[in-house]
Amino acid sequence: MSTSDPVNNLQTLIRCPSVTPAEGGALSALEAMLLPLGFKVERMVATEPGMPDIENLYARLGNKGPHLMFAGHTDVVPPGDEASWSHLPFAAEIAGGELFGRGAVDMKGGIACFAAAVARHIEKHGMPKGSISFLITGDEEGPAVNGTEKLLKWAVERGERWDACLVGEPTNPDALGDMIKIGRRGSVSGKVSILGVQGHAAYPHLADNPVRGLLPLASALMDPPFDMGTDNFPPSNLEVTSVDVGNPATNVIPARASFAFNIRFNDTWTADTVKAEILRRLDAAAAGSPFRPGRDPVRYEITWAERPSHVFLTRNNALIASLSEAVENVTGRTPQLSTTGGTSDARFIKDYCPVVEFGLVGQTMHMVDERVALADLEILTQIYGTFISRWFDNALLP
Ligand SMILES: [Zn+2]
Repeated sequence: MSTSDPVNNLQTLIRCPSVTPAEGGALSALEAMLLPLGFKVERMVATEPGMPDIENLYARLGNKGPHLMFAGHTDVVPPGDEASWSHLPFAAEIAGGELFGRGAVDMKGGIACFAAAVARHIEKHGMPKGSISFLITGDEEGPAVNGTEKLLKWAVERGERWDACLVGEPTNPDALGDMIKIGRRGSVSGKVSILGVQGHAAYPHLADNPVRGLLPLASALMDPPFDMGTDNFPPSNLEVTSVDVGNPATNVIPARASFAFNIRFNDTWTADTVKAEILRRLDAAAAGSPFRPGRDPVRYEITWAERPSHVFLTRNNALIASLSEAVENVTGRTPQLSTTGGTSDARFIKDYCPVVEFGLVGQTMHMVDERVALADLEILTQIYGTFISRWFDNALLP
């Protein structure tokens, strides 16, 4: 079997139990698919104190520009209770026209199809008119500390530069051709602690109940809306995700109360300006709390979660058009250009080159019986193949 068969590629990859942080043989299997095509394959092990070492892979075909990168991950989430699967999660069995297994859609399937698309491109057109590389991590489903971010830096230090990137995450909600992701919202999390004075519930004038401060501060973050949305993004949204007082006694006013929050923000904001707006709202609510007549402003502390995700929007029309036209050409459907959903490793790649995301249908990702239609693997391979041809044609236009 050759690399040009996406079903065979995917079965091989699924049979490698690469639950984060284990490599599980998945990168070696991919290496074995890429070497016969002429790729130069390198394996990069990333380390971080207190965390497991992670194997990553970088492979490049060609040595001139323009340079197209395909990015993704071979690690998968745990299968959960194997007995509830209709086919064992790492057996890669085919039944009823579907291929079952952990990672089938998220996202060994995307990798299997892109490798097949490159193999077919070479069979049909010869070597690409520039370079194609695979940037594949084993740490996307885990903490993502030893993954794409470090692999990008490692590659850049060795002189690698890219003109565009396609991430093969599952982006389609219901059917192939639904949706291309051209950006992602940013994400910031934090925890606010309100500092009170402990006391007897029957003598509140001697105490200072932090719950009276918590309520207006939490409300001020949830309302009014941060914005009404932009041309390419839905409205920013903040959710209070936890409220913690930890007080078992009904006759005691606690000393401290806290709440946690997460905001998904659009391109109205940056991580810094959205943090400033959060502080402004907290200060205003603290100064004017109606729950504390005659009292000093609410005293609070805020701690921000490490590493905010930055918002981004890809504006490279040639990249978006190449992919969009490829989807239309193969499926007859016009994909929606979207910025919805959670964050992905595209948030790291966008600092190096324009990036878009398109892959399989995401319905069964992370679930028991994760599976993909064999027909979809063939269609996605054709879309990727058409995209590769069009992208190089566009990139080489004078
Ligand atoms: Zn994924």
